[in-house]
Amino acid sequence: MSVEARHFIDGKYTAGDSNRRFKNFNPVTGASLGFVPEGGEAEIDAAVSAARAALAGPWGDMAVAERAELLHKVADGITARFDEFLAAEISDTGKPKSLASHIDIPRGAANFKVFADLVKNVGSEHFSMPTPDGTGAVNYALRVPKGVIAVISPWNLPLLLMTWKVGPALACGNCVVVKPSEETPLTATLLGEVMNKAGIPKGVYNVVHGFGPESAGEMLTRHPGVDAITFTGETATGEAIMTAAANGVRDVSFELGGKNPALVFADSDLEKAIEGTLRSVFANCGQVCLSTERIYVERPIFDDFVARLKAGAEKLQPGAPGESATTLGPLISQTHRQKVLSYYQRARDDGATVITGGGVPEMPAALAGGCWIEPTIWTGLGDESAINREEIFGPCCHIRPFDTEEEAVALANDTPYGLCCTVWTENLSRAHRVSARMEAGLTWVNCWFLRDLRTSFGGAKQSGIGREGGVHSLEFYTELRNVCVKL
Ligand code: NAD
Repeated sequence: MSVEARHFIDGKYTAGDSNRRFKNFNPVTGASLGFVPEGGEAEIDAAVSAARAALAGPWGDMAVAERAELLHKVADGITARFDEFLAAEISDTGKPKSLASHIDIPRGAANFKVFADLVKNVGSEHFSMPTPDGTGAVNYALRVPKGVIAVISPWNLPLLLMTWKVGPALACGNCVVVKPSEETPLTATLLGEVMNKAGIPKGVYNVVHGFGPESAGEMLTRHPGVDAITFTGETATGEAIMTAAANGVRDVSFELGGKNPALVFADSDLEKAIEGTLRSVFANCGQVCLSTERIYVERPIFDDFVARLKAGAEKLQPGAPGESATTLGPLISQTHRQKVLSYYQRARDDGATVITGGGVPEMPAALAGGCWIEPTIWTGLGDESAINREEIFGPCCHIRPFDTEEEAVALANDTPYGLCCTVWTENLSRAHRVSARMEAGLTWVNCWFLRDLRTSFGGAKQSGIGREGGVHSLEFYTELRNVCVKL
């Protein structure tokens, strides 16, 4: 069954009042997937009003245990319709079925379960204090929902990243208005049916489609009925949203771009380092905020590492998502492909040695209209080259040698970003020493993308504001009200 993209407002699907609509394309073939309605002021207004009404009504009054039970039903609903979510996500993104079925859809369900369970078991603080008259006072904190949360999400892991926000927001008792990426409208739409079937009251989960600037995205962030904004996307977009959030002094949680380094020491298990780095560079065609784009390798193993990473990259098999041999999908759109190809050109202009790739692969006729691109590895560029400084968000990396641990740490931290990094070493002391010095929200030692949802997630420097995950999500999606009682 294919999904038709529509807004989901107050528990009902609608094409909206607006006649504006845009086309959605399949990045594998370039074929049209149909039209998506573009929301405007009227739809955003309706969605925010529905959310405010639900907050004041059944959702706001519901006991935590009952809310958690409903969210388990949402998770079960995603799992029950696994194949439909998988098909929708694949037609929007073109990612290999093996990837989407192992990561995107299961995590979509897990994001509801984990936070539903967590919220039932988190206590609140209390402090006893002396008073001058000797009777004392007791303080306790009430943890209350923040209100209506705007969730603005990107296209690279659409269901996973959207539910990563919606799960904890609802678990904490908020209502949400989601603005999914214009590139990937389908799974957010389908989730509306699951919400209704699970018995989530109308108005708790709303979706309005559209673009960012001067469209549904910007209108949502500017709406005075929105209490806080959680956003995943580019750093420049984060800056624009922060300006909008200043109006009314609304809280923000931002997960932004990265230019993530990998440090590969000569004492690493090279087999593991190559396998992990291949995944961290090329998974999802390099379109993961956590992807590695800068690799620093200790000089004695540099040539060997480059040769082995090249061999691995050249084994990647671009192709249709459902083919079992496919290990590389397309980029999300022709526009994004033009952007990534402009970096491929820039690398040549800057004098890079192209170890592999650098262009567009020949694809069979049926896939020729897709957004295909070659996995690419460069060496030989200076640290100031745009290739080493700007987020490319494609299947590519630059590799550079280093001589000392001190130099490796300095190179890794020489970036305005600070999302994540990977450290490959079998030396336990070095692993801890280097990790502590990484200016990043997340360091992986001898692994990549290993996530326990109870841990903190977020970026340092220009890679974000705040932390989500586990109790950190509860911090953002709730407010503490202190009550001081004189005894
Ligand atoms: P993007 O910033 O272009 O768009 C993200 C969302 O913001 C979309 O829904 C878009 O319509 C909306 N938007 C754009 N301008 C807006 C505005 N002015 N006001 C309100 N909404 C607006 O990002 P993208 O291209 O969809 O995603 C790729 C980027 O996301 C990369 O930079 C990547 O690193 C980042 N990302 C970060 C994380 C993380 O956890 N740190 C995770 C995934 C992706």
